[in-house]
Amino acid sequence: MLAKPLYWSPVPLPEKALIARIQNMAGHGRLSLGIGDDAAILRLPPGHEALVTTDLSLEDVHFRRDWHPPDSVGHRCLARGLSDIAAMGGQPIAAFLSLALPVKLPQAWVDGFIRGLLKLARRHKVTLAGGDTAASPSGVMADIIVLGSAPAGNAIRRSGARPGDAIFVTGKLGSAAAALEKLYANPTKRLDLRKYSRHFYPEPRLEVGRWLARQGVASAMIDLSDGLSTDLHHICEESGVGAWIDAERLPREQGTSLDQALNGGEDYELCFTAPKSRKIRSKIASVLVTQIGEITRSREVLLLENGKKRKLERRGWQHFGL
Ligand code: ADP
Ligand code: MG
Repeated sequence: MLAKPLYWSPVPLPEKALIARIQNMAGHGRLSLGIGDDAAILRLPPGHEALVTTDLSLEDVHFRRDWHPPDSVGHRCLARGLSDIAAMGGQPIAAFLSLALPVKLPQAWVDGFIRGLLKLARRHKVTLAGGDTAASPSGVMADIIVLGSAPAGNAIRRSGARPGDAIFVTGKLGSAAAALEKLYANPTKRLDLRKYSRHFYPEPRLEVGRWLARQGVASAMIDLSDGLSTDLHHICEESGVGAWIDAERLPREQGTSLDQALNGGEDYELCFTAPKSRKIRSKIASVLVTQIGEITRSREVLLLENGKKRKLERRGWQHFGL
């Protein structure tokens, strides 16, 4: 049934053979039924609610084939979905991948993409449980759906922040944007994948998210996919509150600017709020956690810089935005 490896093939395999190949690479995991039938059959742990998220990755919008190696594209595709589950404090269970591939795409690219995606999936015990495959008239399109779970009532929403809560971020910000700026500045030069691993292989903060949900300490949470300035506004809007953050307290990756840390997207760190009465450790699951500001009653979102507070403009990533 499986076609022999066609690394030299100039075109992707026909649909059936491609699915069989993906199925073979994906394995079964602990699902009741994965790839191969009309639908997957999944079981949630008793007393849990399902979390479902979907994210599109489009060639020349989210990645470029001349900038990103195929395994990085696969990794980033799944990381976006896993990061959303992390931001709810959930445990990912299964992923579904809808792929549209140009007929001229080398099969080796598809293999690399799937390999990158599955490597990250395995690390987080997520099974690729299905998807769809079609030819694309222009560019690679990959839509990932991730199903996760959380104990009923435990998932952390964007809407729970209250005045007086402290605001925290995980890790360090800005390096994904710094890599992107480097790529735009010199589009024909390949970047060092290790040095810029936060851009090419971002780490969804699943353990931190789950720890916070288990402890019940976070009042609101979001993952930083668009950029802190934009994502903090999301928390404030959903919670009906305002906030200030201190520019000097922002944990920045070495060599990154304040602008990159505030407005660069795709760091996939978590931003969460917690009542001040709750003690938050400076490291959770070996990840740095930094307090950067406070939730306020007024609806404004402010940046404290050089002793002055000014409006924090949302300058993160926005599709169709100007
Ligand atoms: P259907 O016609 O019922 O949609 P398909 O032939 O498209 O069935 O898919 C057959 C099986 O392969 C299904 O289990 C589907 O979920 C899975 N599948 C199809 N494409 C992919 C993909 N890109 N990644 C993972 N699983 C896939
Ligand atoms: Mg189908």
